[in-house]
Amino acid sequence: MRRARRINRELAEVYPYAHPELDFENPFQLVVATVLSAQTTDLRVNQTTPALFAKYPTPEDLAAADPEEVEEILRPTGFFRAKTKAVIGLSKALAEQFGGEVPGRLEDLVKLPGVGRKTAFVVLGNAFGRPGITVDTHFQRLVRRWKWTEETEPDKIEATVGGLFPKSEWTMLSHHVIFHGRRICHARKPACGACPIAPLCPAYGEGETDPEKAKKLLKYEKGGFPGQRLKPPQAYLDAGGKPAPPLGAG
Ligand code: SF4
Repeated sequence: MRRARRINRELAEVYPYAHPELDFENPFQLVVATVLSAQTTDLRVNQTTPALFAKYPTPEDLAAADPEEVEEILRPTGFFRAKTKAVIGLSKALAEQFGGEVPGRLEDLVKLPGVGRKTAFVVLGNAFGRPGITVDTHFQRLVRRWKWTEETEPDKIEATVGGLFPKSEWTMLSHHVIFHGRRICHARKPACGACPIAPLCPAYGEGETDPEKAKKLLKYEKGGFPGQRLKPPQAYLDAGGKPAPPLGAG
C-alpha cells in the first residue's frame, strides 16, 4: 500500500493536469463520447463529436435522428453502424426513462444500453464528481506491472486497487495511471529509461532502458505532441500542453 500511494503521489507531480481525455460539456456528451471511444482513440472521438452535438444537442434530438445521417458523422470512429445504433438506443432510454437527463447513480447508469461499469464510473467520476476507478486497458496493464494486484478481471482489479487508496483519490488516481500508460508505460515498449517513477517500479527494464532511445518512445505532450482534447482544461494549457487539431487538420 505504501509503494502504491508513493507511485500515485509521484504521478500526481508528473501529471498535475491529468484529466479525462474526452471532450465534453455535460453528462450527456460524456456518456455518448465514452460509448464512441470503444476500439478507437479519444482523439478520433473528440474530432467527431463536435459535429454530432452541434446537430443533436440533447438525448431527445439524437433519439429522433435519422440513423443514416448519424452513421455519416460517426464514420471516422470505426464500427460506425453499431455505434450509431448504440448512441441512438442510449438516447432513447435517456429520453423515455430518465426525462432526458443522465442519471447520477451507478445502478441506473448500468441499466442504460451500451453502458457497463467502466463507462458508468467515467461518467460518475467526471460529470458528477463521484469517486470512481476506471479500469481500462492501460489501468489493467500498469497496476499489474506495479504488482498492485494479481487479479485479471476488471471488477476484481477495481475492488483490490480501490482498497489501497482513499475513495476521494479514486478518480484522479485513474487519470494519473491512464496518462502514464498512454504517454510512457506503453503496452509493447514501455519507455523505462525516461520514466520518472522507474526507481519505484518492480517492472523497470521491461522496456527500453537507454535514456536517449526511451525518450523517442514518449507520446503526446511529453514528446512535444498535442494531447487528445480539442478543448483541454486550463491547467493542461498552463502546463504547456497543446490542444489537439480538429478533424482533417492532422
Ligand atoms: S519503469 Fe518501465 S515498466 Fe515501470 S512504470 Fe516506468 S515505463 Fe512502466
